[in-house]
Amino acid sequence: MTEKTEKQPIRVRIAPSPTGHLHLGTVRAALYNYLFAKKEHGSFVVRIEDTDPGRSLSIYENEILDGLKSLGLHWDEGPDIGGPYGPYRQTERGDIYKKYIEKLLTEKKAYYCFCSKEELESQRGAMMANGLTPRYTGTCRHLSDEEISDNLKQNKSSVIRLVVPLGIELAFHDIIRGTISVMSDTIGDMVIARNISTPLFNLANVIDDYEMKISHIIRGEDHITNTSKQLLIQRMLGLDEVLYAHLPLVLTPDRKKLSKRSLETSFVEYLKDGYLPEALLNFLVLLGWSSQDEQELLTIPEMIERFSLKRVQKSGGIFNMEKLDWFNAQYIKALPIKELIEKLKVFVPEEWAMQTHLMERAAILERERMKKLSDFVDLAKFFFVLGEYDVSLLGWQKVSLAVSADHLSGIRNLLSNESDVDFTAAHLEAVLMPVAEKLGRGEVLWPLRVALCGERNSPGPFDILEALGKEESLRRIDIAIAKIAGELSREPVSP
Ligand code: GLU
Repeated sequence: MTEKTEKQPIRVRIAPSPTGHLHLGTVRAALYNYLFAKKEHGSFVVRIEDTDPGRSLSIYENEILDGLKSLGLHWDEGPDIGGPYGPYRQTERGDIYKKYIEKLLTEKKAYYCFCSKEELESQRGAMMANGLTPRYTGTCRHLSDEEISDNLKQNKSSVIRLVVPLGIELAFHDIIRGTISVMSDTIGDMVIARNISTPLFNLANVIDDYEMKISHIIRGEDHITNTSKQLLIQRMLGLDEVLYAHLPLVLTPDRKKLSKRSLETSFVEYLKDGYLPEALLNFLVLLGWSSQDEQELLTIPEMIERFSLKRVQKSGGIFNMEKLDWFNAQYIKALPIKELIEKLKVFVPEEWAMQTHLMERAAILERERMKKLSDFVDLAKFFFVLGEYDVSLLGWQKVSLAVSADHLSGIRNLLSNESDVDFTAAHLEAVLMPVAEKLGRGEVLWPLRVALCGERNSPGPFDILEALGKEESLRRIDIAIAKIAGELSREPVSP
């Protein structure tokens, strides 16, 4: 079977249930569907599967749709933009489902079941006690039309079950996994609808994929057991088969199932934390797929060009946070500086954002150290405010603080002779390096750097001098000298 059929246009979809946050599984499925649609010049559809009334919430629907949009995964048809096969929200499709459910009932391929919970439980218990796999025994399969209409008139609670024939092989070809086959005997007369216009997941999913002319179903492998049931429903309804590609699970680096926390963490959190959409998608695309040329850093157009369902692997994709950080760092480094600054502004206090020169210098100097945009706040804080630091940090190795103070005073004198325009990293390096070489690099430059930033780690002192400018640099050096003086005056004088 090929990925592309001659007659049918390529149409793929994701069908998220708005019962929880936008999670990694949905985003990866959306990405693969999106890439496949673009590659094959097909359509990418979003359908909201909100048939579970207790658990479906519009806040989750909004989060899912907004999150996917923020990632740049735009769809051609969906609940927000409509399209030729709408509505794209299952709760709005009751009339469509009704026709199909009525057809199944009329053709006696489905039937009303009035068994109570207690009856079902006792049937189940009896089967298990006899060592059988529990499934519905078919008690209501043969109710007469009168019995059914009486029960319905009395408002007896009911569901609709599919007549599942025994001994049928339900086989399908999965583009990724090859042939998968299950015997219908294991299924039992499954419940397919709550009532005449409210199907359950498997039935609604099949009807919608047919009505929306979906050509390929690309979804997680956790749906394989549903696929067999859906094949049966398709056959009972006489619908065309669809092509399937079940994506591998996502695992931790030690090949365990991903924790519930990682699975349920909203993907929007990554965006809020300063992971770039391009980096997230690049990371996700490799969770189960690789390019033939093994290139890892891929832009969206490059992904589209290279994407093929045949290269999706069967084994689980490994979710490795360090890898994600690495991708993000690469994309941060590659951003044009103006764009980086705009993105950083979202994370920093307004007073910082207004200091254009300092923001630019800080962004240039800190971009190498950032794994995510939010890191900038801590890394670059010292450019904007000098924090409290312990005086001992001004000491270089075993050299006494008094010596640090001497060096700082010497440097202060040299710097105060420089004009504002000469306060560039290159010029100041040329002025100060000979002194540092003569007196000891660490001894001179360490206290200077600490005086300027108040931290153990930072970019080099000449870059910070340029970023802060003359006045602020001298002010900070004075603070350091005063700190040392204060400390030395507290030390007991030796007799
Ligand atoms: N509503 C299903 C889910 O969220 C969709 C399954 C499918 O893609 O067919 O898992």
